[in-house]
Amino acid sequence: MNRAPLPDPSALAEGFWAAARQGRLVIQRCHACGVLRHYPQPRCPHCQSSDWGWTEITGRGVIHSFTVTHQAFHPSWADRVPYVVATVELDDAVRMVTDLDEPAEMVAIDAPVEVFFDRIDDEHTLPRFRIRQPDNADEQTR
Ligand SMILES: [Zn+2]
Repeated sequence: MNRAPLPDPSALAEGFWAAARQGRLVIQRCHACGVLRHYPQPRCPHCQSSDWGWTEITGRGVIHSFTVTHQAFHPSWADRVPYVVATVELDDAVRMVTDLDEPAEMVAIDAPVEVFFDRIDDEHTLPRFRIRQPDNADEQTR
């Protein structure tokens, strides 16, 4: 059985993956102007400052766009075909590309999603997304 390729993060991105191992989703916040950004970049695309830190976000958002993949681009994904790759518009105004842990027929533009953390081994935990149940779900249990 083939094993899926795993992240081999640069020094710049290591904080993102270290947080994922702790079950937290973090992105960069510019210390000069406050703008949030993702993917990790050495300088702020808004003000060019190199002064930044990691900030934890909720991991909630909606599907901005998606594609259904019918051809496995790696042998380890063959048993997942067809699978969904989506761009998620996070509540924190950044977008993140992810594979969705949902059957293709469940996925739609603007569907609410939330992050979950898929622990592969001691060194690798992948932030992934799934469809989020409506916020009024707990109303039904009262
Ligand atoms: Zn900035």
